[in-house]
Amino acid sequence: MAKVLCVLYDDPVDGYPTSYARDDIPVLDHYPGGQTLPSPQAIDFRPGELLGSVSGELGLRTFLEGRGDTFVVTSDKDGENSVFERELPTADIVISQPFWPAYLTAERIAKAPLLKLAITAGIGSDHVDLRAATEQGLTVAEVTYSNSISVSEHVVMTILTLVRNYVPSYQTVVRGGWNIADCVERSYDLECMVVGTVGAGRIGTAVLRRLKPFDVELHYTDRHRLPESVERELGLTYHPDAESLVPVCDVVTINAPLHPETEHMFNDGLIAKMKRGAYLVNTARGKICDRDAVARALESGRLAGYAGDVWFPQPAPKDHPWRTMPHHGMTPHVSGTSLSAQARYAAGVREILECWFDGRPIREEYLIVDGGKLAGAGAHSYSAGDTTGGSEEAERFKEK
Ligand code: NDP
Repeated sequence: MAKVLCVLYDDPVDGYPTSYARDDIPVLDHYPGGQTLPSPQAIDFRPGELLGSVSGELGLRTFLEGRGDTFVVTSDKDGENSVFERELPTADIVISQPFWPAYLTAERIAKAPLLKLAITAGIGSDHVDLRAATEQGLTVAEVTYSNSISVSEHVVMTILTLVRNYVPSYQTVVRGGWNIADCVERSYDLECMVVGTVGAGRIGTAVLRRLKPFDVELHYTDRHRLPESVERELGLTYHPDAESLVPVCDVVTINAPLHPETEHMFNDGLIAKMKRGAYLVNTARGKICDRDAVARALESGRLAGYAGDVWFPQPAPKDHPWRTMPHHGMTPHVSGTSLSAQARYAAGVREILECWFDGRPIREEYLIVDGGKLAGAGAHSYSAGDTTGGSEEAERFKEK
């Protein structure tokens, strides 16, 4: 029997919900482009429930304990004395969400001789040292597409939020004020602006599609060019790299995975190539941007706004400069963990576990590392290597 160690974020401060704002969530047939939704043999949760927090348990306890497995769920993930580090040496399978990542560094993998499978409940497995995972023969899998559309909605919301200067206007109301000039002195229309995405995979393409009706000019860069029919349909301009994309854009959105090629891609040098007053929206991974370069660019006015929901490390220390820099629209990492998304990635995790236990292949599109190399979606979208360096700083969030 297996020991499954699962790291989830904390329950709401007022306790696990007993009722919800809505009675149901829409039922999807398939993802855009035809990929099928997760198809486990059964689920033991009601779609729309909070599954990503500790008491939600991704709806897995009945299934795992019914098989005789040991199922440990914790939010205590950082530092040598954490429950995660204590339980890891005897774990066969680790499940973690990017929102509250259990960093699986080379040191931690070395302490886990039984570990064979690391599942990302969501998308983006950069919290795992993929080089060490490859060397140790681990399988790393994620639930591809489960929250891509969720994130694309957040990106569109965030672009509008920055360009229209929504957050300060909202704060004016909450503070009892009515000074319209203060609200609009940084407010513009998105119409006819140039918007570009770095990465035009599932999220990037969905962002482009959603922005098309706003009458903007759409640009992109990606390692593989989109089909000509898609470029024509959306009126896209392709750039071979980010260097040639960013100088023409009023808004840049980052939708590529974090891997050695993209780590700190948006540094002082690349940001200096952006238009003065451009907006940068990053819901991909915090480490794709140089933390201090972003803060400097907002201070100097090189960037008019920065937003997104991804940080490095996570949780971000209380003194992380992105919490206090000017003109930002940051949230904690929430875009891919709406209740709608949770139902999909919880079902996807169950599907991966069922395949693993039954000895059936995990879907190719879910694989990041397998058989000692990058595989499936990982082979397509990642470059080999490790991007977990510095993740131990996540422990500082606990500091008073
Ligand atoms: P996809 O794999 O569908 O798309 C990623 C795209 O990025 C691919 O087209 C890939 O290229 C491209 N890419 C990779 N490297 C580069 C590079 N150096 N320059 C330009 N493009 C590059 O994944 P998704 O769109 O579903 O997700 C993208 C990322 O978003 C995830 O990896 C994750 O980090 C993040 N994410 C964030 C979430 C959140 O909650 N904030 C939730 C879900 C995802 P190609 O494959 O053509 O080589």
